Amino acid sequence: MRAEIIAVGTELLLGQIANTNAQYISKKLAELGVDVLYHSVVGDNTDRLRRVVEAAQSRSQIIIFTGGLGPTKDDLTKETIAKCIHKTLVLDQTAMQRIEEFFIRRGIVMTENNRKQAMVIDGCTVLPNDHGMAPGMAIEAQGLHYILLPGPPRELNPMFDSYGIPYLQTLFPDEQIVHSKVLRFFGIGESALEETLLDLIDNQTNPTIAPLASEGEVTIRLTAKTKTVEIANDMIHQLESIIYSRVGQYVYGYNQDTLESVAFDLLKEKKLTLALAESCTGGLVSRLITSIPGSSEVFVGGVVSYSAEAKELLLDIPSGLINQDGAVSASVAEKMALQVRLKLNADIGLSITGVAGPGQTEEKPVGLVYIGISSAFGEETLELRLSGTREGIQIRAAKNSLFLLIQQLKERNEIN
Ligand code: ATP
Ligand code: MG
Repeated sequence: MRAEIIAVGTELLLGQIANTNAQYISKKLAELGVDVLYHSVVGDNTDRLRRVVEAAQSRSQIIIFTGGLGPTKDDLTKETIAKCIHKTLVLDQTAMQRIEEFFIRRGIVMTENNRKQAMVIDGCTVLPNDHGMAPGMAIEAQGLHYILLPGPPRELNPMFDSYGIPYLQTLFPDEQIVHSKVLRFFGIGESALEETLLDLIDNQTNPTIAPLASEGEVTIRLTAKTKTVEIANDMIHQLESIIYSRVGQYVYGYNQDTLESVAFDLLKEKKLTLALAESCTGGLVSRLITSIPGSSEVFVGGVVSYSAEAKELLLDIPSGLINQDGAVSASVAEKMALQVRLKLNADIGLSITGVAGPGQTEEKPVGLVYIGISSAFGEETLELRLSGTREGIQIRAAKNSLFLLIQQLKERNEIN
């Protein structure tokens, strides 16, 4: 099955909003194993929309529209599609009732143009809108499938998940299911990873292997198409074992895992507590850890010891050490980790000090970052040379510190 997505809206062409709807739908279709071959954006204009539809009809079996289902004059998607497939619009009683109820609940008078939102293409499957008024539609005409979704993401996303995807699943032959697993890597670049797995990537058919890189992390999605989830899991597991034997040391998690969630799970499992001393990341690691519900079980607290004075006053880092080695140094990182652990009575102390840039400090290059980790086993430091913007360096420094923590927690079964 080949699909394409047509986003309707002049504001997209003017650059006022980004086409995140196409991104959302594409991602979901990829998970379903449906190939998306084109994204188009067209303004609120009947003739131009018609021409885009005609092009889509010549090359795709599934055509998905977003936007233009609302009550105003410029909303013309369903009117245009109905004409393209020689159908008329009819009033959907359920949708009409929902719209009327909405106005009664709000205590405002319904304007006549709102009736337009309850009009649907004759013979379509109505996709209910649980978060707004305009219903979506799915309809088959001459062997092609058309799906119309509203523009606002808060309406579109749940509608596509709850009604669009189940509709699409009914179109697949002999109950094929698509099942996938995401492997999450850290500490290896996308190109190095691809190089190591080149033979597998070149010969992929089922499961497929799709790498994706973002901000220091790389993921690989393994997708199997087969009869049952069990068979799919077996197929994925076999391939995963091969990948693991080559680059397993860089795998930190799966599917929805994040570095912070994995670090949290490991700390919790081992009943260990963490304290943080951050300099160049300004509290980012604390923020990441505390974004996890229940983090108080493992996270004692931390300090943002940004200046040399703060390092001295809050963490008792001797000014002599800072003067001698610099605030961005392995020795200071080590001491920060040790001191924050002792002061907050935690099992593990983690520290970050570095030059986020753009200006250099202490003649140290931008991107030079030291991470310190301290436990009853002693102290260890890691030197990193990162590149990129200030924000990028901060994010990658934070992620590196979490990865170091994860590695240590995995390596040592008992830190006490
Ligand atoms: P409404 O009933 O709100 O008018 P609609 O289905 O008619 O919904 P549009 O009028 O085309 O949709 O767009 C409404 C809003 O939805 C836009 O102002 C924008 O905020 C958001 N939106 C529309 N298209 C997209 C898109 N492709 N990606 C992300 N957001 C979008
Ligand atoms: Mg609109």
